Amino acid sequence: MEIEDYIKAGKIAGEVRENTRKKNWVGKTVYEICEEVESEIKKRGAKCAFPVNTSLNEVAAHYTAEPNDQLTISDDDLVKIDLGAQINGYIADTAVTVCYNPEYDHLVQVAESALNNAMSMIKIGVKSSDVGRTIEKTIKQSGYLPIANLSGHSLEQYTIHAGKSVPNIWSIGSFSFTENQAFACEPFVTTGEGLGFVHEGKVKNIFALASRKKTKDKEADRMLDYIWQNFNLLPFALRWLLEEWEENEARNLMDILIKKKAVHAYPVLVEGNGKRVTQAEHTFIPNENGVTITTIGQ
Ligand code: MN
Ligand code: MN
Repeated sequence: MEIEDYIKAGKIAGEVRENTRKKNWVGKTVYEICEEVESEIKKRGAKCAFPVNTSLNEVAAHYTAEPNDQLTISDDDLVKIDLGAQINGYIADTAVTVCYNPEYDHLVQVAESALNNAMSMIKIGVKSSDVGRTIEKTIKQSGYLPIANLSGHSLEQYTIHAGKSVPNIWSIGSFSFTENQAFACEPFVTTGEGLGFVHEGKVKNIFALASRKKTKDKEADRMLDYIWQNFNLLPFALRWLLEEWEENEARNLMDILIKKKAVHAYPVLVEGNGKRVTQAEHTFIPNENGVTITTIGQ
């Protein structure tokens, strides 16, 4: 594992996240947010590890802007901006929730507190189930609910979900944190009226390569090569194909690739009772004394 690349990617992602947090996005479209945040990542010399997610209100995760998406942020919306930078495939994954209605400040703060409490307790040898317990306790003590079926994850080169889960609740099937592995921790919080679980929604606008098997359609195969060369196995958005294809053609080719199971489409994840969700996320590497938070930011 290339610690230096994890650190570099993390410094960029952390810096971009903090700028994102400070900005007032009211009146902006999700398209403008995604394009601006992605260009900030690239300007600093990293690649995007995945399309910037701008999931609003009861949508917990996995929404990114469609080309020219006109969905516009109001001063009542709660927006989870989840961004990823990568250097040579070594990923920094981090998120912030922005909201301009003070009614939701506490819901935002509790996700941050749960993340901070998890960061404070992790070191080599700590059990993942104990981290889940701490996150769950922090959230429930505040009168809210963790999203039980969303979790953090181990990271590997060009792999965002590398097999181990960092749970947001106490759960069986535990592992102990080891050195030389990167992880993301990402508590999701909903109100006491929420279900505390997400289900899949209808919208799918994040994709990833699933197979490089030829499709018998020459242009679809060219798109498959383009995806592999530019994004490897990491997620991408339709927006990212429009330098090479016109929008309608790109949509048609993507339909072919999805049907042939060469590309996987990820559905948005929606709170089960339709209640609002907040999120906070850091990428970290455990050590003897604690953790190195790569996405700490300044
Ligand atoms: Mn993330
Ligand atoms: Mn993540």
